[in-house]
Amino acid sequence: MLEKLKEKVYKANMQLPQLGLVTFTWGNVSGIDRESGLFVIKPSGVDYQQLKPQDMVVINLQGRIIEGDLNPSSDTPTHVILYRKFGEIGGIAHTHSPWAVSFAAAKMDIPAMNTTHADTFYDAIPVSDSLSQSEIASDYEKYTGVSIVRTFEERNLDYKATPGVLISHHGPFCWGETPEKAVYNAKVLETVAEEDYHTMQLTRANCELPHYLLNKHYYRKHGKAAYYGQNNPVSKLHAKNNNFNS
Ligand SMILES: [Zn+2]
Repeated sequence: MLEKLKEKVYKANMQLPQLGLVTFTWGNVSGIDRESGLFVIKPSGVDYQQLKPQDMVVINLQGRIIEGDLNPSSDTPTHVILYRKFGEIGGIAHTHSPWAVSFAAAKMDIPAMNTTHADTFYDAIPVSDSLSQSEIASDYEKYTGVSIVRTFEERNLDYKATPGVLISHHGPFCWGETPEKAVYNAKVLETVAEEDYHTMQLTRANCELPHYLLNKHYYRKHGKAAYYGQNNPVSKLHAKNNNFNS
């Protein structure tokens, strides 16, 4: 069942240690098949070296195991909430990457300070509100998902334009159209967290990007007028209009 998706999700999970985003087994990636409403997720606590595509667990959007011999990631209820509420995402990645965790523990957003940030995230990457004691006691992983959705609603953020969040005191969740894209976004988030930290050490000045530069970078890569890269019809037109020689 969903063998191709299992292979994709397996590969995306294996990218986490390759990209330096996880220590031990502290991370997980999932991917969804929107047609069947089933998603595939890494099993809980299995070493990356031992992981195989057939170990991936198939789950429905009620959080029930549909196929798999191993227990799914303990964060599965968070993935369920995100797939239910963020209807156009295709993959989710969760890590405990250290620069992101530092901002999460400090309960600070990762501000948009450089163009690397603006190429992927339109807004500051928000930190969620802390969970209440009763939320933690009753259904911790589910309420982690609820707190992410609540943060995006309260702050009027677009989950597609800002494809990641910090869970306060915990770490990042990122998402994207595919599991690979979710992992890519997790790496960008970690990179800009480290860069922002160093910027904040160098100066106390406000280094947030001016809005016109943020807009320029975000919309070079996203939306109808995007012109970055090779596969976009607008890029050729843009190059022509700019009178590029190459
Ligand atoms: Zn975690």
